[in-house]
Amino acid sequence: MTETKRLLILGGTGDATALAVKAAEIPGVEVITSLAGRTRQPVVPSENTRIGGFGGVAGLVAYLREQQVDLLMDATHPFADRISLNAAAAAARVGIPRLLLLRPAWERTAGDCWIEVDSHESAARVLPEIAQRIFLTIGRQELAAFAHLCDLWFLMRMIDPPRSDAAVPPGQVLLERGPFSLAEERSLLQRYGIGAIVSKNSGGAATYAKIIAARELAIPVVMIQRPIAPPGDIVATVEDAFAWLQQRLMPCEKI
Ligand code: NAP
Repeated sequence: MTETKRLLILGGTGDATALAVKAAEIPGVEVITSLAGRTRQPVVPSENTRIGGFGGVAGLVAYLREQQVDLLMDATHPFADRISLNAAAAAARVGIPRLLLLRPAWERTAGDCWIEVDSHESAARVLPEIAQRIFLTIGRQELAAFAHLCDLWFLMRMIDPPRSDAAVPPGQVLLERGPFSLAEERSLLQRYGIGAIVSKNSGGAATYAKIIAARELAIPVVMIQRPIAPPGDIVATVEDAFAWLQQRLMPCEKI
């Protein structure tokens, strides 16, 4: 009889959900998905989902030991760098294999007018020089970095509303969950008279239509660059992550 292997997937992305569904089909693999709990109605890949922080590296180490996790797959958002660093440290401490699934960043292409910056604060610094009406597509966590820009107007798109005590820049909040079509994005940019977009370089297809629409309408995009990923095994697609998993599950060949 083969021993059951426990796989912990750190989720919060569409890729993590797809991976959890695919991995759960492997006989002898028990999948647990972990979500940060950032959205009120999260997409939950299965019943075996836990929600909320672990309590730093120490908390994650304790969880991995308590739950007897054999393998750790980090499929979190490219900007969720704290949990990725914690995952790398905790897996090393417990001595289990860890993989980072990191979808490729968007590449600048002909016709794009990107201003690449390294943080939300840097994005806020360049905005007054660029436009007056801004489409802020960074979610709700980092709105405070733009709150002091009282002379600008912001259209702010996010899944859940800002917290009641959050510092929010002047403008309008739009509560929507992607994916968004090109037609929708084009019409939104025109309807609101948007002069610049602020985006994280999240990569992936679900939110790329705004970048195409901006290119078509010659609207500049202030593109926030990704944080540096921790070293270690890294793949770009769900398929490659699945192949990594299958390799780790293969019984050792006897010589
Ligand atoms: P983070 O800065 O990497 O994580 C902060 C803390 O949240 C972690 O230290 C951990 O708490 C907890 N956490 C994060 N992901 C977790 C998971 N999958 N399971 C359990 N706990 C988790 O990430 P963030 O604050 O969530 O987001 C940072 C950036 O990523 C933001 O720009 C956000 O818009 C973007 N983003 C995040 C998600 C997401 O699902 N997290 C989804 C889309 C976009 P403990 O230290 O207590 O363990």
